[in-house]
Amino acid sequence: MTDITRLTVAETHRLLSDKKVSAVEVAQAYLNKIQGSDLNAYLSVNADATLEQARHADQLIAEGKAGTLTGIPIAHKDIFVTREWPSTAASKMLEGYMSPFDATVVEQLKSAGMVCLGKTNCDEFAMGSTNANSAYGKTLNPWNKDVVPGGSSGGSASCVAARLAPVATATDTGGSIRQPAAFCGVTGIKPTYGRPSRWGMIAFASSLDTAGVIAQTAEDCALVLSKMIGFDHRDSTSIELPSEDLTASLNNGVNGLRIGVPRAWLDKVNPELKKSIEEALNEYQKLGAKLVDIELPTADLGVPVYYIIAPAEASSNLSRFDGVRYGHRAEKYDDLLDMIKRSRDEGFGAEPKRRILIGTYVLSHGYYDAYYIKAQRVRRLIAEEFDRTFANLCDVIATPVSTDAAFGYEDNKDPLSLYLSDLYTVPGSLAGLPSMSIPCGMSSKGLPFGLQLIAPKCAESRILSVAHAFQKETDWHTKAPIGY
Ligand code: GLN
Repeated sequence: MTDITRLTVAETHRLLSDKKVSAVEVAQAYLNKIQGSDLNAYLSVNADATLEQARHADQLIAEGKAGTLTGIPIAHKDIFVTREWPSTAASKMLEGYMSPFDATVVEQLKSAGMVCLGKTNCDEFAMGSTNANSAYGKTLNPWNKDVVPGGSSGGSASCVAARLAPVATATDTGGSIRQPAAFCGVTGIKPTYGRPSRWGMIAFASSLDTAGVIAQTAEDCALVLSKMIGFDHRDSTSIELPSEDLTASLNNGVNGLRIGVPRAWLDKVNPELKKSIEEALNEYQKLGAKLVDIELPTADLGVPVYYIIAPAEASSNLSRFDGVRYGHRAEKYDDLLDMIKRSRDEGFGAEPKRRILIGTYVLSHGYYDAYYIKAQRVRRLIAEEFDRTFANLCDVIATPVSTDAAFGYEDNKDPLSLYLSDLYTVPGSLAGLPSMSIPCGMSSKGLPFGLQLIAPKCAESRILSVAHAFQKETDWHTKAPIGY
């Protein structure tokens, strides 16, 4: 019998609907594997709750009421609140926090019949690019335990790469789906800002936070994302568009498609990665796509703009963790102010504290115009540059996800150089555009490389079909780390 945990969502669905395997058996196989794993990809597991959901899925299948996702296991990033698993955002601040409700995305996937396997590790409050910022220990990359799995959704990417879940939810504020997907050799999609609901996502930077999916294939991403998008009146920035079946146009192909390539971005990356990206672009050309050289000079300002806007919003969002309304409360204190100070000092790790300081500074009287307002203006210019490029030159943009494959946990600890490493992912975030990362090669050290695809607003179905066209012709996405 095949190892069920090696299958994609689409393949698992076929076994379930042919009644070759039950949802309980599938869930149990993953739970066993999770128990034996040393990657620290999961922060919480609740086998009873998982098996209860699996039994319910089996009942629906038996009654002929199952959909494509019924009985398929999924892991949720610990940024989404869940009623049956603690929701911590990988922070001591929320240790043991049990939410009275499920996030919209969690609720949507549960009503599609998916079975939750547990919550995945991440950087604290989704701030980071390595997973080293988790208060509960770092997640390891199954390709090589000395290198980072990426972040902030490192737990979601690592667990999909190690086949500890066929698919996982993740969140992306400035690259947190795409960069870990690239570093772990899996497929990730950050949809258009506002398409999936933010309700029940522990907030980092509300004008950027976007829920998405990490899976083995673009097809699986399409299957799961289709159930996550749609208007939600509980999210004030939710886009009023009806839900969409993103699998309908998966096989559209790329014949005649214009792929914009910012050549200057390619020149800044490791030569091996550059070669892999060029090979991927050649593959697209063979499939009938046309490559167009483009320039995105304003997007080059993405990092400074992002590292003003995101901390500014974070400093406001994190003010709710005061030991009264939410979060850890210090045991010993003198008066109310002292209680708040000590609670925040004990509850937050170094990175959230750094962001709160930066954010408070750029919003403060005297600096607000110079930093925050200026950053908002440049953000608008970046979005307009993308709009013009799509209107005049190309249908999708292809770029590297980062400048290299995953780096060592010991190699890069300086916050500023980590911020700078987000240079290719933050522009798409600032413009709110759907962006994907797909495996496109392997370094000589055996670490995966990722190709980023960016599309105009709400063109999720377009980038998914572009990614699918590549995955039909190549096998980078099928590669799993040895032993997993
Ligand atoms: N690495 C970026 C940061 O540290 C992005 C994080 C994210 O997308 N959540 O802010």
